[in-house]
Amino acid sequence: MESIARPFLCFEEAYPEYRQLALDYWSGGMVDGRFKWDASVEDISELHGVLKKDVPKLVRLAATAVNPAIRCCDCDYPQELSSRSAFTARVYGDHLCTSCLQARNRARQDKQKQEEERRFAALREVIANASQRNQTFCYDDIEYTDAVIAFGIMLASDEACEDGRFQQSDALHLCTTTTLSGKLLGRLFNRGILGMEDTTPPRAIELVKEGGWSYFPHRIHWKFARDTNGRSFPSVMTLLGEIIDAREDDPEYGQAVAELWRMLAYDDALDHLVQEVDSYRLPDVRVGPKTDEAVWHALEHFSIPQVRREITNVVKNAAALSQRRDYVKRHALNTIPGTLISYVDRAVSEGWQVSPVLHNWQNEEPILLTVLFNRVLGTGLPGFKTLSNSLLKTSVLGGDAAFE
Ligand SMILES: [Zn+2]
Repeated sequence: MESIARPFLCFEEAYPEYRQLALDYWSGGMVDGRFKWDASVEDISELHGVLKKDVPKLVRLAATAVNPAIRCCDCDYPQELSSRSAFTARVYGDHLCTSCLQARNRARQDKQKQEEERRFAALREVIANASQRNQTFCYDDIEYTDAVIAFGIMLASDEACEDGRFQQSDALHLCTTTTLSGKLLGRLFNRGILGMEDTTPPRAIELVKEGGWSYFPHRIHWKFARDTNGRSFPSVMTLLGEIIDAREDDPEYGQAVAELWRMLAYDDALDHLVQEVDSYRLPDVRVGPKTDEAVWHALEHFSIPQVRREITNVVKNAAALSQRRDYVKRHALNTIPGTLISYVDRAVSEGWQVSPVLHNWQNEEPILLTVLFNRVLGTGLPGFKTLSNSLLKTSVLGGDAAFE
């Protein structure tokens, strides 16, 4: 209360009967360097014959009190006082009156809304432009691996086969993880096989700096490009099936099989590891070079479902270790890659029969895995149970060790 050490009153037209009450309430002055009210609220209530609790309310009816020493930094109007404590309380920082505060909040909200609208307009523009891409594609020239992926999508989705459109692609269960299936959708988009529908929701797109954008593959409303040779989508699916059935006659066959198997196998093994670790409530798996090395070592010698079994056993072992008092959970987790490598080596050298961990072949295994074994390799479930990377190299790739 630096300059003017008392509230300033502005009487209202109404309630003149309470003006004296207001004057008594707000009267005070500096005593020994501190502000002191002339009478207590209790005394005022007795003097005027009103209830103590009603005093501030009646005072406010009679007069608006302001503190001329403190002014709103926007409109310069002095601070309105609601009660004595508002006057004596120390104010830190700039004072902003209620209406200026509301105005500022409204302005901020308006700005946010405008920014949001601008962002949405930009997203819709990205979608509108992107939906013009990949209108047509020559399916006769499709690469073998892409044919398998596209065929898998059409097998999983009736809509995709009928009119080329599909949404909620994460529910199609193309691969073990939606991360890999998202990458495969991106691959078909980059190659001109898949396009984006203009009904794609803005939340599927993310703007990145310098005018670029990225997308969430499973939020996109996808559509296959129309065939340049005029085939309907069911006929495109038939064509893809024929391309797949050409097998060894297609020069890309061996490499495509190896690429697909490795992609799906690594995805499955890593996901199985994460699931097993989660089931024991161990800390999150950090996939480093050693984990990669161990997973690939296991896949070199064993089939996908056998590697699942090995991972299950090794994680069970780590979980048992983590229960010991002298063991830190994180350390138990660190033993997994090393134990997996040793386990695989013993299983190979001692010729263990590792029993595969299987899910229902028709309904639970990922679509691309069943397409790979049923259609591409033509070995079905028995092949899935036994095909390791080393077997793949000797059988499908004809022992071509140069391909790694
Ligand atoms: Zn103001």
